Amino acid sequence: MRLLIVEDNFELSQLVANGLMAAGYESDIVNSAAEARDAARNVSYAAMVLDLGLPDGDGLSVLRELRRHADPLPVLVLTARGGLQDRLTGLRSGADDYLVKPFALEELVARLEAILRRPGQLLGRSLRLANLIYDTESRQIFVDDAPRIISSRETSVLEILLRRQGRVVPKKNVEDHIFGLEGEVASNAVEVYISRLRKQLAECGARVVIHTIRGVGYLMAEEK
Ligand code: CA
Repeated sequence: MRLLIVEDNFELSQLVANGLMAAGYESDIVNSAAEARDAARNVSYAAMVLDLGLPDGDGLSVLRELRRHADPLPVLVLTARGGLQDRLTGLRSGADDYLVKPFALEELVARLEAILRRPGQLLGRSLRLANLIYDTESRQIFVDDAPRIISSRETSVLEILLRRQGRVVPKKNVEDHIFGLEGEVASNAVEVYISRLRKQLAECGARVVIHTIRGVGYLMAEEK
């Protein structure tokens, strides 16, 4: 599960990223409204932490744009604007939660976890297919209810394929999901992780199959 941090204060963005990392969440950091729009379009994040005072505009415009496009990405606004009117505007613009700076890191993490647990989110806590269950919060995998170990990046691939099971996931989306905004990625990296994941799933006895849709992407389904 990967989160997006939109924050132009370098030290604060690092603090938040480190706090999230300690709680088990990987994140990408961007520091402008334009980059936030791009990142949200290109990577499927589990949630966004959004600062409002950004160098190229107001974070609220990013939020309103997401909602205008019916994007359900959970957004927690993190801002120094703490007045009642500011908080109301943030929530009415589509924020799922609103936290005022200065804040305690533990509270930020707890509030994000509360957002991610909410029923009705596309993000159910566990995803299942055939005899395979994946707990998105603990990142644990179970086959026939027994815990199994799958390596970390392969688990990220499994997550995105399971979330969209029965549908084709473009190769680019798989790549973004594994590597986020990390720079250069080897052109065969996704194939390598898919092939390792297939092997590990077979070793666990999971009755699922990952089809390669040539030139498009991958599709995960129950093994017939
Ligand atoms: Ca700011």
